[in-house]
Amino acid sequence: MIRETNSPEETYLLGEELGKKARPGQVYCLNGDLGVGKTVFTQGFASGLGIREPVNSPTFTILQEYEDGRMPFYHFDVYRIGDVSEMDEIGCEDCFYGEGVCLIEWSDLIREILPEHTVQVTIEKDLEKGFDYRRITVESR
Ligand code: ADP
Ligand code: MG
Repeated sequence: MIRETNSPEETYLLGEELGKKARPGQVYCLNGDLGVGKTVFTQGFASGLGIREPVNSPTFTILQEYEDGRMPFYHFDVYRIGDVSEMDEIGCEDCFYGEGVCLIEWSDLIREILPEHTVQVTIEKDLEKGFDYRRITVESR
């Protein structure tokens, strides 16, 4: 699926739509340059899961857990990860193969330890189409 958005609100709504459909055990992998809208998408996704707590990029912690939605939500931002072994220390396996849903910003940085089946979400700009334009590709693998 490919969606085009022209504002942060539209990207939030797409995230929310997918969050509503999310199922336990799914791992959403989010990629795209800095400032492209990964966190905006994630905030919508969390809302779709029924999470009311504010969701931000966990800048100094790789993992933020939210328990107040319809299932546990594990939000990873691995931008600052030094080595994939840090993921083990966090206990990522329990998250990946548990009863909640995972969303990983910058998942390409930890490609080698991702589960076999994921949902890949890629957000891209195209400045020719405007500053706020984003093309969002969602594919299940
Ligand atoms: P990332 O997490 O990918 O680094 P953020 O979600 O933190 O990016 O920031 C995205 C920025 O881009 C925000 O300032 C947001 O307002 C802006 N923006 C402009 N247009 C869009 C759009 N169509 N979708 C998402 N964000 C947008
Ligand atoms: Mg972010």
